[in-house]
Amino acid sequence: MKELKERIVSDGRALEGGILKVDGFINHQIDSQLMMSIAREFVRRTEGVEYDKIVTIEASGIAPAILVAYLTGKPLVFVKKSVPSTMEGMVASEVFSFTKNRSYTVSASRKFIEGSRLLFIDDFLANGNAAMGVVDIAHKAQAEVVAMGFVIEKGFQCGRERLSSLGIPIESLAIIESLDDCKIVLR
Ligand code: 5GP
Repeated sequence: MKELKERIVSDGRALEGGILKVDGFINHQIDSQLMMSIAREFVRRTEGVEYDKIVTIEASGIAPAILVAYLTGKPLVFVKKSVPSTMEGMVASEVFSFTKNRSYTVSASRKFIEGSRLLFIDDFLANGNAAMGVVDIAHKAQAEVVAMGFVIEKGFQCGRERLSSLGIPIESLAIIESLDDCKIVLR
């Protein structure tokens, strides 16, 4: 996706430790026009996939995911990065955060995903921990993740390799080859 790749090169910033900062247009300040183009591209790439709902993890996944939900007319369920005491019929999983270097519990209410075919959308694919957590939650609720879409995949981390063992199709709109020496190199 040319528009996204150009924006990553012009406005993204590579930090020490292999972190890409895109807070000027993706996950803090949001460029809604770009985000809509991103959502359209996800819809185009998943045209042949049959799914009932879109699922993401709060907070950064919600922006692209809600626009995919809007375009397709399907509901969006966002998995929570907490364990709300008022949640009914909770299904939960442990996720290790690459950026925060700690584990946290993610949760969802079973009734919103039970028996559904899910399209998982997120901002980044790094080591695949968030995606694995959502797949685990889906299994616990007798639901199925049938495809995954990532705005940015860090191709130098092991996420794709780990997820490919699950046999779920993966679509990434921009793949980062390397962030070595704090330089952004796209694939
Ligand atoms: P994973 O679970 O695949 O290891 O990491 C994906 C999650 O970590 C994403 O939801 C994203 O929020 C965060 N993340 C991973 N790598 C980066 C990065 O380089 N930059 C930013 N901004 N977030 C990242």
